[in-house]
Amino acid sequence: MGINNIIKAIRSKKSKRFLISTHRNMEGDAIGSMLAMAELLKRAGKKVILFPPEDMPDTYKFLPGAAKVKLMSNIKDIDYDVACLLDCTDIERIGSVKVGICLTRPILNIDHHISNTYFGSINWVEPNMSSSGEQIYHLFRKMSIPINKRVALYIYIAMLTDTGSFRYSNTTADTHRIIAELMQYGIDAVDIYRKVYEGVPRSSLTLLASALSTLDTAKNGEIAWVHVSKAMLSSHKAGIEETQDFVNFPRSIKGVKIALAFREARKGLVKVSLRSNEGVDVNRLAKQFNGGGHSSASGCVLKGTISGAEKIVVTSAKKLLRNST
Ligand code: 5GP
Ligand code: MN
Repeated sequence: MGINNIIKAIRSKKSKRFLISTHRNMEGDAIGSMLAMAELLKRAGKKVILFPPEDMPDTYKFLPGAAKVKLMSNIKDIDYDVACLLDCTDIERIGSVKVGICLTRPILNIDHHISNTYFGSINWVEPNMSSSGEQIYHLFRKMSIPINKRVALYIYIAMLTDTGSFRYSNTTADTHRIIAELMQYGIDAVDIYRKVYEGVPRSSLTLLASALSTLDTAKNGEIAWVHVSKAMLSSHKAGIEETQDFVNFPRSIKGVKIALAFREARKGLVKVSLRSNEGVDVNRLAKQFNGGGHSSASGCVLKGTISGAEKIVVTSAKKLLRNST
């Protein structure tokens, strides 16, 4: 089984230096599982090189050890034995730091997305787990490495954010059992909620108001979407990371089966977030555009304009609904 092979690879005497990376646009699961994995490897007596695809986002700078999460200035010719990639459906997800990964050295692929491409030399993929953080929890337990408050915090953040605060369909009885256990290490849920989701700049709210005014629907309200253009971001002096959850607003409308958010990451590049209700599989939709994720939450990137992307994706969304009814 995947986890046993991962443990064997960690314990191997030949593997001394581990490089850890994750996907771009790092969110709670990417960051939490990366930091928790770093702790696990250190306690297993290994040398750890944190190799994130970007700098730590402001929201998570409160975490202990956050200062070590920095994009390396030299991303080539890194001396390591094993690469460990977390929360990535495919190797392209790590973005430009891929040039630092030597494809002839072992890659541990630890992920919980159904669309994982099994790109690693050892693959441990658990689509029924809430988050990669939950997978790291099991690694700690199975390797009998004690969890402490700091590790509990990392895993808690991973599970909290990937389940949308325990609201999404990936929230299971196991999720709650593990969370209950983690809280016993002194997790302050109120404080963490405030740090992760609140304390937002005013610009986030004015930008949200502007994004909501772009709300559009199709197929008798079964498809709903909003967009955020580069111009909107600059006029509100806001960053793209402030728009992460905007897709939840069209999703919350009664009758909506597919919700979309189109966000202009750079000129000519549109990031699409897809969400579904009532068991519609939006991973199938994201895959049509070389993206992926989970059946009820996935993403992809399209080249071109926002209106071009809207036309193409909404047309495919209509087709998907037609074929699934
Ligand atoms: P979000 O819409 O919040 O960026 O992402 C939702 C889910 O889809 C996440 O699980 C994320 O890993 C996945 N996802 C988002 N964008 C992409 C993408 O461009 N490619 C792939 N393969 N998955 C993505
Ligand atoms: Mn995840």
